[in-house]
Amino acid sequence: MSAYTPHESDSLARAYLNILIEKEKDRQELHSRFVINDDEDVPQRGSLSHLVRPDLAAIAILAARAIEAEPGLSKRLRRGSPIITIATNSPPLVETVKEIFSLCVFPYGSKLIEIEGDDLFVRKSDAAVVIARDGARKDHRPDKGNRAISIALQNRLPIVGIAPDPDLYLPSALLRTAEHRLRLPVLDTSALALLIEFLTGEAPTTPLDEETFRQVGIEDLPLMLRGRMTADDCIASLQHVVRSKAQDPVSGPRLEDLAGYGEAKIWGLELAADLAELKSGRLSWAEIDHKGLLLTGAPGTGKTQFGKALAKSAGVPLIATSVAQWNAASHLSGTLQAIREVFQRARQQAPCILLIDEIDGISDRAMLRGEYVEYWSQIVNLLLEQLAGIDQRPGVVVIAATNFPDRVDAAVKRSGRLDRVIEISKPSADDLAQIFRFHLGPETLADADLMQLALPAKGATGADVEAIVQRAKGTARRAKRELSVDCLLAEIASRHPPLSAQDRNLIAVHEAGHALVGLVLGVGTVVGASVHAAGGGIDIRTDMTGSLTLDYLQNHIAMLLAGRAAERVALGQMSIGAGMSASSDLAKATRLAVLVETQSGLGQMGPVYVDDREAAAISPALFLAVKQHLLEGDERATAVLVAQKRALMTLANALNSRGYLSGADIRAIVGTIRDEPPNHAVTVEDPAPEAA
Ligand code: ADP
Repeated sequence: MSAYTPHESDSLARAYLNILIEKEKDRQELHSRFVINDDEDVPQRGSLSHLVRPDLAAIAILAARAIEAEPGLSKRLRRGSPIITIATNSPPLVETVKEIFSLCVFPYGSKLIEIEGDDLFVRKSDAAVVIARDGARKDHRPDKGNRAISIALQNRLPIVGIAPDPDLYLPSALLRTAEHRLRLPVLDTSALALLIEFLTGEAPTTPLDEETFRQVGIEDLPLMLRGRMTADDCIASLQHVVRSKAQDPVSGPRLEDLAGYGEAKIWGLELAADLAELKSGRLSWAEIDHKGLLLTGAPGTGKTQFGKALAKSAGVPLIATSVAQWNAASHLSGTLQAIREVFQRARQQAPCILLIDEIDGISDRAMLRGEYVEYWSQIVNLLLEQLAGIDQRPGVVVIAATNFPDRVDAAVKRSGRLDRVIEISKPSADDLAQIFRFHLGPETLADADLMQLALPAKGATGADVEAIVQRAKGTARRAKRELSVDCLLAEIASRHPPLSAQDRNLIAVHEAGHALVGLVLGVGTVVGASVHAAGGGIDIRTDMTGSLTLDYLQNHIAMLLAGRAAERVALGQMSIGAGMSASSDLAKATRLAVLVETQSGLGQMGPVYVDDREAAAISPALFLAVKQHLLEGDERATAVLVAQKRALMTLANALNSRGYLSGADIRAIVGTIRDEPPNHAVTVEDPAPEAA
């Protein structure tokens, strides 16, 4: 039994497929006249179908379906002079659709004339006019070719316009007069079944999963279906090619395998899915909203790697360039030429990712002075022209990277160019742990808790992690030892001068305070605490979704203030370590208290919601209410720490001597083994919520 549902009527498709066999037969006969081969007779008609190009046969089926869906069109194409446009969605399909129109759609032997420029010389024998534009050339625009269309109209010839998106690329005169606007339907499972049945003479029985099927592009078909195969072999081959395609157009990791990219990863994965749809003709370029991205971030945060990983995930080529490369030319004309060439190359390889590194090398014109203005303006203008012409570069997604977003010309960032700006921040502790895993590989230190590396490495970029791992491996190799966590910790520690004994003890007490109060008040799951050359860190995962009570929020504030409270309880005085920056404990606790008052409806101000937090924060009444929450939090934290001072001291000492305590170590020391909360949706190694 077939695993595929057939289309209700594919009679026109079958007729077109028969024509393709006729053509193949003609070709074979011609061939046999010139090649004498005693062993093989000219193949018979029935056995010729496997010689037909599978992509051509697929387009024959889809074009037939589009035509059949328009009442009376099939007849008009044979006897009348219809004016039609057909959207192919994907640029590479334009040529194949044109081939099908000339081979199958018009009466056998009709002579088609193709519009190339703005003129048309019609001869008596011409039977129809075709205009096929894939958007790769500058003159593929609605204001070009209109004269040729009017000549065709005056001669009452049928006209077919073929383009990925007709409204963008075909002459406006054709768009205005078109009587039928067709869209090539998607290659669905029934079309694929018909195709395989045509090529092999039998229906496939193995089902094809939807996910694999979505990745089959029509242009991939010749690679997948070659020579004589059984129907199920075709399905197996299709699955194989889709799998290997996912593995390697570009070397290196896929975006799915990388951590630390935050929003950029979401954007990239959405784009990868859209590009797969574009390639298979299910989505048009106009429908894709992720066309340009400006990636910003410190050096080493992986901006260049992002472009490569994304290309790999999307299974499209990567064209990597940089402003420095463009500027390598000694003359202005060479630079301009380099820019034009790289965009042209990208257009030819579309769909693809064009990665422009160091885009800040194209300075903001507003910052230019003197003799450079004229020189640079030409470069900036050309780049803007290339970037702005999104319709002239169907399938070319541009990703520009910079360490200095402020230096990039404002026009480059404007809508329609690189309208989305995403900053890649320094990785969180959780991301760092995953980046360490990535660079160590799955087998090295497979069972180690990498949070003990991530916490002391806080502030490092992905590139720093790569260097730490490389150096530690080198040290271990030279000492003829296995790579160990200690070896990696030593590399991490060497990034900063060591702490004095007094500072180290203070930080150990501070972090122990956060851990103990977090644990006792059940604010979240304590994952690990660390004291290291660069300071200290704690990773507590809280779940700020769901129904939070005032009591919970108060406990959260207590946990944030517990570091400084612990200094007071254990050492008799407090340092400034809890404050002094916008990401400090005090800043986070204050922000949370302001949210409680102005937005949660649970504060002393009553059921109010005030959007402008800063304005609200300076109101004296609010200030007092917020202060009250902070004092209450401090009191709660202190109460826990005083009651469990022995646990606090033991934790602090253990942390001081070992440098890292995992959540399990901390729970064991405190003697309170807690069940893990079920939901870890929000990871806050820095335990303040962004918004309540
Ligand atoms: P940028 O372009 O931001 O300066 P790169 O993309 O050149 O950074 O990154 C340099 C190297 O750092 C990469 O080759 C990669 O090995 C490493 N790296 C950077 N970020 C990450 C990450 N998030 N995950 C894994 N490795 C990373």
